[in-house]
Amino acid sequence: MTADYSSIIDGKKEAARIRATLKEQIAAAGAKPVLAVVLVGADEASRIYVRNKEKAAADIGIVCRVLQFGEDVAGDELLDVIRSLNEDPEVNGIIIQQPLPKHLDAKVLVEAVCPEKDVDGFGPVNLGRLQAGYASAVIAATPKGVLRLIESTGIDLSGKYAVIIGRSNIVGKPLSSLLLNNNCTVTVTHSKTIGLKDIVRQADIVVSACGCPKLVKSDWVKDNAVVIDVGINRMADGKLCGDTDFEALQKRNIRITPVPGGVGPMTVAMLLENTWLAFKRQKENV
Ligand code: NAD
Repeated sequence: MTADYSSIIDGKKEAARIRATLKEQIAAAGAKPVLAVVLVGADEASRIYVRNKEKAAADIGIVCRVLQFGEDVAGDELLDVIRSLNEDPEVNGIIIQQPLPKHLDAKVLVEAVCPEKDVDGFGPVNLGRLQAGYASAVIAATPKGVLRLIESTGIDLSGKYAVIIGRSNIVGKPLSSLLLNNNCTVTVTHSKTIGLKDIVRQADIVVSACGCPKLVKSDWVKDNAVVIDVGINRMADGKLCGDTDFEALQKRNIRITPVPGGVGPMTVAMLLENTWLAFKRQKENV
């Protein structure tokens, strides 16, 4: 059996819908939210990601200010920059593009961003707020996008068994809080997990965010499951692939996101949504 269209969860389409709504809301409010991006060094992938964010922001009326620093910039200089962005009333959101050069401590820099402007939701305050279920939490863009994609399938999350592969602070851990807050039963697995295949096999929802090309095989996934593939892996032939064996899985009676065209576009859309929400909260609090 070949896949029918409905088995593919189209992140590109969903993200475009969200961006269009944001564009309308921002125009209707006559607003000009500002997102500051701290970019260090010349990592090619980071530059491409930042350019994509800039383009997507400009298209919906968000001003993206990219602050570019040389590879050898001192941590103290960046801390000063972050402090002044925190205090700048015109700046609504701040992100520190990662990876950073080795001499910089990403945790220190991310923690320096004030929680109300931490639109990546990576800082300890927002991670804590999310875990405790506070409405004030800025939810990290990728987990937020994953939740939206799961919701777009129309399944009722309550009581579903979700298995997450990967326990990073930017995907696996915040996603586990988010799914738990939505009444899923959640297992977070990682590189030291024993019997991964058998755990994944029980899941109603599988989210893979481990960066292992095609790790999740067709016989790991039960019928009717929803599979969200966060992984982005560059193959020897230059093509991108996810953490799942998409070719085989898309023929099954499941729903699955492709790579590219699944979680990636949603992450950008959620970052823009977080910037717009930060703008609105900051204006309300003036
Ligand atoms: P990370 O390297 O910080 O964490 C990887 C996690 O996977 C770790 O917790 C590790 O224990 C686990 N892991 C590694 N090998 C495993 C294995 N064989 N079995 C089970 N678990 C294993 O990565 P990250 O920053 O969370 O990103 C994960 C993947 O998601 C990467 O491919 C990254 O490029 C991608 N990503 C995509 C987006 C997007 O917008 N689409 C956003 C963030 C990350």
